[in-house]
Amino acid sequence: MKFLLLFITLLTALMALEVDVLNWKIPNGQTTLLEFKEIKGFEYKSVEVGKKSFSIFTKPNDSTKKYVLIPFSYYEKAENKTLKIHYKQDDKELVENLLLKVITGKYAKEEIHVSSTKVNPRSKELKKRISKEYNEAMRIYSTVTPRSYISKPFIQPLNSKITSSFGKARVYNGSHKGYHSGTDYRAAMGTPIIAANDARVALVKKRFYSGGTVLLDHGEGIYTCYFHMSTFEVKEGQMVRQGDVLGLSGKSGRVTGPHLHFSARINAVQVDPLQLISLLNKNLLTGN
Ligand SMILES: [Zn+2]
Repeated sequence: MKFLLLFITLLTALMALEVDVLNWKIPNGQTTLLEFKEIKGFEYKSVEVGKKSFSIFTKPNDSTKKYVLIPFSYYEKAENKTLKIHYKQDDKELVENLLLKVITGKYAKEEIHVSSTKVNPRSKELKKRISKEYNEAMRIYSTVTPRSYISKPFIQPLNSKITSSFGKARVYNGSHKGYHSGTDYRAAMGTPIIAANDARVALVKKRFYSGGTVLLDHGEGIYTCYFHMSTFEVKEGQMVRQGDVLGLSGKSGRVTGPHLHFSARINAVQVDPLQLISLLNKNLLTGN
């Protein structure tokens, strides 16, 4: 009996956690996925990357597995990243390190000419408004709703030509001002913009840069954003279904003409929305 107990204890100690990594090399601005197999006595907690911590959730299409999305910002350096996996094994808190490599994404450059008052907002009041809007949005994006609202694959917010993709380096009136943080779709004034998936409406607001803005919370830290709209058809706090009209397209905010700017965030990190949707559709939202 003593012998058998010792043997079992040894086996448990040798059992390592089982994790599948979607890609070991990941371009800046993109998201990767880790999957964990449910093992008796194991409790997966979170994954820490630098100062950020990402919660581990149950896969929507397979309750025998857990998942975590790891987003890498556009500004992330091309280098090795240590992922600290926090888990519990038979009530013992453990950490295992995993090494991923961030590589430089292939992003183009584009020149944009807009009215100079929109490039360098001078007035104190305007600066105050912009920082208030930024802080409000970051508070929303940092809120991880501990449940998922989605069960089926994402759809496009609009069926039209993509006029500018995520990640393009942007040069406003000759000076570098960052990068294109979303995907632009061609949209004549007044085109219906639809929800890419089921969600809770987290924000409906006219903002300085993004104009008529709707933010959708899909749960578990996943957000999609719809900018430059002319009118709204939804209210904050309301639940929407995939395909519901959020409002009509427009040219509000810092734009040169009417279009839809569509973007996405994972735990507040801005990522390529189409790469994220493709990743979620292939790995989390099929097979139901
Ligand atoms: Zn855009």
